[in-house]
Amino acid sequence: MIASLGDLPLRDDLRGLTPYGAPQAPLPVALNVNENTHAVPDEVASDILDDIAVALRGVNRYPDREFSTLREGFASYLGHGLEAEQIWAGNGSNEVLQHIMQAFGGPGRTVFGFGPTYSMYPLIAQGTGARWIAGEREPDYTITAEEAAAQVERADPDIVLLCSPNNPTGTPLGLDVVEAVYEAARGIVVVDEAYQEFAPRDAASALTLLDGRPRLAVSRTMSKAFAFAGARVGYLAADPAFIDALRLVRLPYHLSALTQAAAIAALRNSDIMLGMVDEIIEQRDRITATLEALGYQPHESWSNFVLFGGVADPHATFEALYERGILVRDVGIPGHLRVTAGTEAETTAFLDALASIGSAS
Ligand SMILES: *Cc1c(COP(=O)(O)O)cnc(C)c1O
Repeated sequence: MIASLGDLPLRDDLRGLTPYGAPQAPLPVALNVNENTHAVPDEVASDILDDIAVALRGVNRYPDREFSTLREGFASYLGHGLEAEQIWAGNGSNEVLQHIMQAFGGPGRTVFGFGPTYSMYPLIAQGTGARWIAGEREPDYTITAEEAAAQVERADPDIVLLCSPNNPTGTPLGLDVVEAVYEAARGIVVVDEAYQEFAPRDAASALTLLDGRPRLAVSRTMSKAFAFAGARVGYLAADPAFIDALRLVRLPYHLSALTQAAAIAALRNSDIMLGMVDEIIEQRDRITATLEALGYQPHESWSNFVLFGGVADPHATFEALYERGILVRDVGIPGHLRVTAGTEAETTAFLDALASIGSAS
């Protein structure tokens, strides 16, 4: 007997919701979820494996609940004088965001973000019983400090999520916006810097604003620039008291010994792990230039993907690319598609296929 969801005593506030479901089709060129499409380099892979082998011999015991060595690794990677006590980590930054929403959101509370933004924000908020409030951006997806502060003041949310640069649009976010939103908000402000490594080198991180702002947190991930999406490691920096709040809601030993070992070894090799970032930025800029030449309207991107408009029929173009073995993302913005910058060969395959379809409106 197979029951349907409606037959089960599901929470009322979860009825009618759809789970996150980016397609995972086994196509040769997958450019749909902003992964780093370059494999972990062999030399680093064997170094990581050595550490995992050591950790494996101790998995009869629970792992270090405070993942102290890993937090030291993140603190030193981030710089800005951060200490291990200001660092938190989870199984992907999605889990870190969930910890934040469990601690500061939850039933009767609200979570705010400027749409269109990362599709997981409303899902994680709803999962904890909080209500999602969508703010608005300018037509070119930017937000001014003044307008952002006014919207936050009006919505008066418990948590504000600022995606910088923004997914799915690639739009940079000025630190003046973060400062203005922090002043306007009474609650928590999270700056999600999942793509920070792809921003221009001289672009300041919100990490520079942490001092004296105990309600501010800056989240990062190893899923994108670090080529570690499958390992599931995300982290954040905030005031030590903020970190203490997250300890109240995390499951004990949430980061496995194998995950900790892998992440510590990967961080030790961060120069090599991040070695492909410049190449990816080059491919991103090539995508932008070529899309323009083809008559599409790519949006400015500080990330490893490009959102482009001028697509007459996004569904038809998605399907035509799919048939040619190329997976991109229809993010539900009319007339638009999003594509991740892949290797040079993958990027060429995408651009050639798109040119052959020829459907710019
Ligand atoms: C990809 C992405 C993440 C990363 O999620 P993980 O759980 O760390 O894989 C976080 N935020 C945004 C905006 C993203 O696009």
